Amino acid sequence: MLNYLYQEQNWQAQMSDLITDPLELLEILELSVDQLLSGAILASQQFKLRVPRAFVKKMDIGNPLDPLLLQVLPHHLELEEHKGFVTDPLGEEQANQIPGVLHKYKSRFLLTLTGACAVHCRYCFRRHFPYQENLPKSEDWLNIKNYLEAHSEINEVILSGGDPLTLSNRKLALWIERLESLKQIKILRIHSRVPIVIPERIDEELVSLLKNSRLRVILVVHSNHPAELDDLTCSKLSYLAKQNILVLNQAVLLKGVNDSAQTLVDLSQRLFEAQILPYYLHVLDKVKGAHHFDLGAEKIDQIYKDVLASLPGYLVPKLVREVAGENNKTPLFGVTTF
Ligand code: SF4
Repeated sequence: MLNYLYQEQNWQAQMSDLITDPLELLEILELSVDQLLSGAILASQQFKLRVPRAFVKKMDIGNPLDPLLLQVLPHHLELEEHKGFVTDPLGEEQANQIPGVLHKYKSRFLLTLTGACAVHCRYCFRRHFPYQENLPKSEDWLNIKNYLEAHSEINEVILSGGDPLTLSNRKLALWIERLESLKQIKILRIHSRVPIVIPERIDEELVSLLKNSRLRVILVVHSNHPAELDDLTCSKLSYLAKQNILVLNQAVLLKGVNDSAQTLVDLSQRLFEAQILPYYLHVLDKVKGAHHFDLGAEKIDQIYKDVLASLPGYLVPKLVREVAGENNKTPLFGVTTF
């Protein structure tokens, strides 16, 4: 384990000390630079490497196929063009009515308050999203409020990525207070990968902010592999659950990373130990640059069938695909043409 490169620091210090150079990452993991075939550096210029040292600490030294490494290391295959793999696979630019707002589903409303993430996942469906044109400023609140009031069917606001937990507690508190001022909003959902890659983000101030909100708070973390869930990560997340904050997990099914039933079973069991329930298992969104993570429909069907046979129902995440323009996520099991 890489104790020398990471001493426990507060999360802000970790955010300002991310690894962004692929060569540094390979050196830390004692891997040859041959790992970066020509094109990988260009791929990293198009979508920068970003990974916290705490996450690298969970990787195996000397293993070029480490499932956590494969999620973050730029790859020359990202430069290939493949039919159907596009920059906006979910048609989000269509759903983007005012800066920072995505209204795709009837009762839920998504706010992207920041374009920043603590980690860049190579398969991210928003890797080409034009965040800079879409971040709401304080003066946009009035427009957002008017929009919400004009859509009384919306009762849940989702803070999503970029990653909302890269924001300071002060900024989060400000937005939560704004949302609390609207009676129609009952639920606040936060989608974040930060607790998985920098568990220290779950600090006392954040816990207090979430548990004292009048909104019912749900944290949806994003973990794809049981090796991401070390003891510190699990203890931070189970502490949140003990404070009456519902914690769910969504994962993405990725070739080379978690494409076996046993890995997914282990993931669900580890999540449960940390008082987290598996929520969604997403089939890869067809975003340009991520084709090499794609699994065929039959393989997905087989893996999922084995997961179903191995776990009690409450530990089986729903297998879904998000389809542009649909009113809900599309359940997939048993459909071999997706
Ligand atoms: S943390 Fe989430 S939004 Fe950020 S790159 Fe990863 S998948 Fe995308």
